[in-house]
Amino acid sequence: MNRCLKCNRSGSTCYCDEIRAHAPIVASTQIVILRHPRERKRSVGTAQMTHLMLKGSRLITDRDFDGHPQVQAITADPERVCVVLFPKPGCRNIEENPFTPQELLGKKLTVFVIDGTWLDARQILRSNPGICSLPAISFNASKESEYQFRKQPAEHCLSTIESIQRVLSLTEPGLSTGALLEVFRSMVQTQLEFSRNDLVRMPSGRPRRQITNSAPIV
Ligand SMILES: [Zn+2]
Repeated sequence: MNRCLKCNRSGSTCYCDEIRAHAPIVASTQIVILRHPRERKRSVGTAQMTHLMLKGSRLITDRDFDGHPQVQAITADPERVCVVLFPKPGCRNIEENPFTPQELLGKKLTVFVIDGTWLDARQILRSNPGICSLPAISFNASKESEYQFRKQPAEHCLSTIESIQRVLSLTEPGLSTGALLEVFRSMVQTQLEFSRNDLVRMPSGRPRRQITNSAPIV
């Protein structure tokens, strides 16, 4: 079956028209998605969708992020404050303790977001001490994921696009980010319909452990 080269989805499940129906989201906060290579092959991933909708975002697929020229340029930029979205002991809950303009001093807040399974994420952090040593941020778990066809390990775990929408809603409360969720919901609905009709063979039903915003990874 032919796949759309932009969203990597096949035929009528392509969501590019949905994306075009919304203006690109222009955020001051830069989102850099670090995607595990395995995620690129998954048509149900949300990293590409997020990247296509967020102007100025980066999507980098690799295992060696510390050695990646784009990552090196971003983390070495003195005009940026770089953080990684990852729930771990000592991380900053930006819902309870948001960044203030005085802290940022006019610098650009850059949030690295790992796109992959829990296992992949732990592996990426272990093998990339530069990313691992960035200040970590998180937010409160208060919303069940709408990612119905890709089972989450717990109700409070969010997909990559939901997590990023949440981050932006906290770092830029005035920014309209609802389109991210609208296109995401539409994609979920389409996928569920196909799944129900057995028109699409879904990946293994084995529960996968995805990045979450709040549960500590141990
Ligand atoms: Zn497409």
